[in-house]
Amino acid sequence: MTYPNTQLFIAGQWQDAAEGKTIAVFNPSTGKEIGRVAHASKTDLDLALAAAQKGFEAWRDMPAAERAKTMRRAAALMRERAEAIAAIMVQEQGKPLAEAKVETMASADIIEWFADESLRVYGRIVPSRNLKATQMVLKDPVGPVAAFTPWNFPINQVVRKLAAALGAGCSILVKAPEETPASPAELIRAFADAGVPAGTVGLVYGDPAEISSYLIPHPVIRKVTFTGSTPVGKQLAALAGKHMKRVTMELGGHAPVIVAEDADLELAIKISSGAKFRNAGQVCISPTRYLVHESIRADFVAAFAKYAQGLKVGDGLTAGTQMGPLANPRRITAMADLMADAVQHGATLVTGGERIGSEGNFFQPTVLNDVPLSARIVNEEPFGPVAAIRGFEKIEDAIAEANRLPFGLAGYAFTSSLKNAHLLAQRLEVGMLWINQAAAPAAELPFGGLKDSGYGSEGGPEAIEAHLNTRLVSIMNV
Ligand code: NAD
Repeated sequence: MTYPNTQLFIAGQWQDAAEGKTIAVFNPSTGKEIGRVAHASKTDLDLALAAAQKGFEAWRDMPAAERAKTMRRAAALMRERAEAIAAIMVQEQGKPLAEAKVETMASADIIEWFADESLRVYGRIVPSRNLKATQMVLKDPVGPVAAFTPWNFPINQVVRKLAAALGAGCSILVKAPEETPASPAELIRAFADAGVPAGTVGLVYGDPAEISSYLIPHPVIRKVTFTGSTPVGKQLAALAGKHMKRVTMELGGHAPVIVAEDADLELAIKISSGAKFRNAGQVCISPTRYLVHESIRADFVAAFAKYAQGLKVGDGLTAGTQMGPLANPRRITAMADLMADAVQHGATLVTGGERIGSEGNFFQPTVLNDVPLSARIVNEEPFGPVAAIRGFEKIEDAIAEANRLPFGLAGYAFTSSLKNAHLLAQRLEVGMLWINQAAAPAAELPFGGLKDSGYGSEGGPEAIEAHLNTRLVSIMNV
């Protein structure tokens, strides 16, 4: 299986870093180096910024219908190339091939939705209090966008930002993840091959802190969009605030799953166990804190553990693999620390809890029960294949526990009562609530969080609106 080295994409050209520096890329299933990615310096960033400004002007000045056609061509290329791109993603990120294919195909769907929506960026005419005046509300693209994306969904994290920015008429300079660089580069290639003007889309890699601290204050950049951890998001939002830049922040979560007394237990187990181990739990909307009514908790825990024990963990390219490795060795250490802390605080380790083997970053699908609130795992985002289960007696107590943390990204609930569903819909402090179902975050739906999980949306019309300036022009007929 071949794996490409990754270059920077600046001013419509694939190129090595000006200083020739590169960073190693590792396969998380083997721990072995599989390729290199170019490491940008300030010289590269300056070129990319100048190109982003030019690319913005060229893209903004194209009719929306032409822009949408170009975006659709990129979507078609992603579909055509999905097999090869998915295989690249598995080698650098580890997820099972089927999940990588779904992610790649979904990118085409997201691009198409934003291409369609971009045709409906309308302003409005507001009737004037003076009949001689015509008052126009105009919607203009905000300008070049700087985007910072993480390694858990190498393509999805980029395409949500890129499609919304291009749909609004902005250019975008992406700092994609150094750990998983080649699959997002294929997304950028699809846009390049589809014919976006030079500079409209740019791609750089390097030292994340060095790049963000240079791009965010830079006068060319008019909007910042970041997906990653809450502490980093807060730093970047503060820097953006200092320089008065528009911001979208999609940060960490700690999604509660409330399983009510009247839930369809079989459905709750099937959906919430399947969702837990997708991408080895390295998902910002991953279900993490399971709050299960005491009357059904024992059955829930037993069935969940059976599912976890039956999962086939292995290399994402091996047929039948259901869960791959963690994306990097840091996550193994983080998981091991969280396990030790939970057990020390009195949690019951029902199944899993350990690294698998010594090659690659494999970790057992894990279920913890009776997890006390003092344990770190129910306070910090675990970002791994572990379910932490607690019981409750009254639905109000489960809601209070769900809302206890500063996070507010996704939430899940299982109940057959309209009364409970209504209460949960009104009281759970989350940006996305899925009741009696797995998350289905389609492009047309808002995607984003509340509280420390960030602000802004990466889906729906709100995602385009976040890239628009609203201006008033009033013309007096004199
Ligand atoms: P991290 O906080 O070091 O990095 C998270 C992401 O932010 C990475 O993509 C990294 O390149 C980027 N980043 C870090 N510092 C940056 C800076 N100064 N400027 C710009 N980008 C910067 O953590 P990590 O070890 O890579 O991942 C661990 C934690 O990050 C997880 O536990 C999880 O909470 C969070 N995370 C969240 C998501 C998500 O989808 N929301 C994705 C990946 C990681």
